[in-house]
Amino acid sequence: MANLISKIGVIGVGHLGQHHVKHLSNNNVISFSGIFDVDTDRANKIAVEYNCNAHDSLNDLLNNCDAVSIVTPTLTHAKIAEQCIMAGKHVFIEKPITKTVAEADRLLNLAAENNVLIQVGHIERLNPALIPLKNFELNPKYIEVQRLAPYTVRGTDVPVVLDLMIHDIDIILSLVNSPVKNIRASGVSILSDSVDIANARLRFENGTVASITSSRIARDKVRKIKIFQKDMYVTIDFLLGLTEIYRVLEADQDDPDALETASLEAYGNHKKIVYEKPDINQFDALEMELTNFIQSINGNDKPIVNGQAGRDALDVAVKIHDMILDDIH
Ligand code: NAD
Repeated sequence: MANLISKIGVIGVGHLGQHHVKHLSNNNVISFSGIFDVDTDRANKIAVEYNCNAHDSLNDLLNNCDAVSIVTPTLTHAKIAEQCIMAGKHVFIEKPITKTVAEADRLLNLAAENNVLIQVGHIERLNPALIPLKNFELNPKYIEVQRLAPYTVRGTDVPVVLDLMIHDIDIILSLVNSPVKNIRASGVSILSDSVDIANARLRFENGTVASITSSRIARDKVRKIKIFQKDMYVTIDFLLGLTEIYRVLEADQDDPDALETASLEAYGNHKKIVYEKPDINQFDALEMELTNFIQSINGNDKPIVNGQAGRDALDVAVKIHDMILDDIH
């Protein structure tokens, strides 16, 4: 089913939505159907900037497209996505998929009934620094993640767990092939009315442990993940786009891509530690995500983060947040 032309529009053209417009209006595989935003001044400004149509109503946009990107505040996702799905449109929904798991479940059921696909914008899954991991067999035993960001009002309509931590929950669920067994979590409110700093520890059925810290009260941005498994340690700095891998190999085992950093012979162990820093091919993750959406609509690919994955990340995030609230009160 190659070369199908899809008509795609964008709902919500604020901070992030304008970038969806930029990529989709420049894409020559699809026909761009224009935008809808309840803020008409904003919609008109973006329509002029990208030379596209600002529709008067959501219905008007839906009458002119096959699929939409929903980039409105999280609290509006469920209602808008429902209207789009009921109109038979494929939906790309920015993360988190919805505010509640019940809303996400309802969207998944409606999408199945209406034979449309849901993709969720967990963009970090496409972070170029994660790509080299595809060349290694991963079986993490311990994962440590830190995501810190300076405070901005945007995003504070939801707690830090649904705003920032959910990115890492999604990555962790994609790395660990086992159900979550139990969760421990704590957090505090500092500047907003909801939780601004959170720490969670997930233990999976297979024994893997993940520790995640997220804060939106930081001076500098930090986005780091460390993955430990038998004979392997990976450290990734998402901001620097730096992936470093340490492995234990047999002393006589050669790997042309790796540098030997230490021999363990002195400890009576015929092994060595090797280090590598794979080249990272930089690309625009949002453009890649939207290309994946277009190819999935056309039947040439599958969403990297489908509705179920978005729902599962939300489920863990909500459990973490509820536990934090229980702990606080
Ligand atoms: P924003 O406030 O800058 O923009 C939201 C836009 O939606 C505004 O222009 C607003 O007028 C419009 N809007 C509000 N209600 C609407 C409605 N009912 N119908 C149509 N338009 C409506 O917000 P943002 O920072 O662009 O965030 C939007 C979404 O993207 C949120 O869900 C957020 O979590 C997500 N987001 C994801 C990432 C990521 O890394 N993937 C990063 C930032 C934001």
